[in-house]
Amino acid sequence: MKIILLGPPGAGKGTQADRLKEYLSVPKLSTGDMLRAAVAEGSEIGQKADKIMRTGGLVSDDIMVAMIADRIQKPDCAKGFILDGFPRTIGQAQALDQMFEKLHIGIDHVIEIKVNDAALVERISNRFSCSKCGAGYNHKSKPTKVKGACDTCGSSEFSQRADDRAETVAARLEQYNQQTAPLLPYYSKRGTLHSVDGMQPIDTVTSEITDLFKVAA
Ligand code: ADP
Ligand code: ADP
Ligand code: ZN
Repeated sequence: MKIILLGPPGAGKGTQADRLKEYLSVPKLSTGDMLRAAVAEGSEIGQKADKIMRTGGLVSDDIMVAMIADRIQKPDCAKGFILDGFPRTIGQAQALDQMFEKLHIGIDHVIEIKVNDAALVERISNRFSCSKCGAGYNHKSKPTKVKGACDTCGSSEFSQRADDRAETVAARLEQYNQQTAPLLPYYSKRGTLHSVDGMQPIDTVTSEITDLFKVAA
């Protein structure tokens, strides 16, 4: 199963991708996570991306397409994958179509998670994650079960993303509306787009998405 999750920053793509990867037993390919790993490593791409990410811009299509082309050819992607945060521009979507054509594969579902702007800003300002294992949390909607300890690994160290500040969030929403929203008609014209109401609780959103797979099966 090959899936694309679309939606503005803070919609819940990462949260749902983490659940769907367990449900479908396929890897989650998050370009945001890949870029943050490159930044932490200090690689050439990481250094370039760091500046762009801090200001809420988009890393160039060339870099992103090369990153995904490399990743989807790894053996663990043979049975499928969940794309979280890619494609983000029409250029990336076209490049993905070409990659798929070469590999003789196709997208099964493109899922848009819809959330209003006020909720996005609130979700992003309350987002934090475990510094050790990366598990994602939210001060309001998804706190740790035990205060100060990660549910998954027990670590007491948490961090917030450098780009989750109010000034940067506005720039990221603007980028989404200008560069990424045009992907919705791009995919809906082909009949592969489904929209889910991302304002619902996390579990409800997950079951609406997994219901789509059952209907299609
Ligand atoms: P969110 O899901 O909160 O929008 P991500 O973790 O997906 O954030 O991405 C963080 C940042 O990484 C983006 O604001 C952008 O700068 C960069 N980025 C991630 N994926 C892409 C992509 N496909 N194309 C360009 N830039 C990207
Ligand atoms: P994205 O990857 O689209 O940027 P995340 O999955 O990181 O979004 O979610 C953003 C924040 O909102 C996280 O702190 C997450 O725990 C929280 N969140 C995700 N889905 C929901 C939901 N349905 N209701 C409330 N909060 C949510
Ligand atoms: Zn942890």
